[in-house]
Amino acid sequence: MERKEWKTGRAWREVDLNALNHNARLLQDRMGENCRLMAVVKADAYGHGAVPVAKTLVEQGVNAFAVACPAEGIVLRRAGIGGEILVLGCTPPEEAEVLARWGLTQTVADEGHACALSRQGLPLKVHMALDTGMHRLGIPAEDWETIGRVRRLPYLQFQGTFSHLCVSDSHTVEDRAYTQRQLERFYEAVAWMRAAGYDPGTVHIQASYGILDLPPQPCDYGRAGIALYGVASTGMPEGSIWAELKPVLSLRARVVSLRNLSAGEGAGYGLAFRCGRDTRLAVVSIGYADGLFRSLSPNGGEVLIQGCRCPMAGRMCMDQLLVDVTDLPEAEVGDVVTLIGQDGGEKISAEQVAAQCGTITNELLSRLGGRLPAVCDGV
Ligand SMILES: *Cc1c(COP(=O)(O)O)cnc(C)c1O
Repeated sequence: MERKEWKTGRAWREVDLNALNHNARLLQDRMGENCRLMAVVKADAYGHGAVPVAKTLVEQGVNAFAVACPAEGIVLRRAGIGGEILVLGCTPPEEAEVLARWGLTQTVADEGHACALSRQGLPLKVHMALDTGMHRLGIPAEDWETIGRVRRLPYLQFQGTFSHLCVSDSHTVEDRAYTQRQLERFYEAVAWMRAAGYDPGTVHIQASYGILDLPPQPCDYGRAGIALYGVASTGMPEGSIWAELKPVLSLRARVVSLRNLSAGEGAGYGLAFRCGRDTRLAVVSIGYADGLFRSLSPNGGEVLIQGCRCPMAGRMCMDQLLVDVTDLPEAEVGDVVTLIGQDGGEKISAEQVAAQCGTITNELLSRLGGRLPAVCDGV
């Protein structure tokens, strides 16, 4: 990985927009012609930068986005993103005015939420969430009486109906049957709505795993998040369509200082690193306040420097971490350090780092933010 002088920051997120476009095309192909991609760009596009991600996808013809809250939708509108922006979270009814002003579409989470939104007396674009078994948001899909009552509320303009699958990433017989049951409940409710004279609007139920692991569905949207960013939530399933995705994000920092310690000396907070031999340590300018997990270092955390794997040493600090470069005497101040991504022939995947942190890539990536500039490559 060549050193790019214009990326002078202490640490940065490198976003490969060509990889993003590749993944969007792959997902769109997989969904078929009648089902369109709704790009899930909540949490700053899972840590990739919502504005550059959304702008790139608009160029490719994507005109539906999903966010978690109105503030995230407003960021997109201010950047000139048109089309549909669906707020997936349960927005307080007091924010109805903001939803209306910015032309955001709100998820109706349950009957109480629907009534409170309606009482605001503002015309609001909404999608009705149906609970088909996850038991998070949504009106129970079998409760047609309530669905009908909610549909008759004034001011709410129902433009869509959706649900969310909760075990679609699992391949056990039991979980597959559960997913099948969720799909059936969803389509039964949609069919009832049509029969009862309520236009369900756009219907959608698949997220990344539902798009890639289920056959194409008779839906209008597929809501892709993690797959759009080119990774699986946990270990990449071998030989599957997932392997055709390209990771979008690389996480890099720099060697800012080097020091030589003698065997027996300790380093870092708690002197948690102990030199078993004469040791050369590199100080790297990234830490847990940048979104890395502090638990990464003691769980086998590694970095790439000059294409070589080097182990983290001792406790990660808020803004820095230590790396043992004894076996890489060529390491120099200014070297680019890769925490996620490729350097030469070596690669550290987001899946691998997430596993070492005891989490999924969704959490790992969505925490990267704030302080790390997003440097976009490609397109
Ligand atoms: C976050 C979210 C998604 C995206 O899920 P991925 O697994 O990342 O594709 C889709 N739908 C809803 C309702 C969500 O909350």
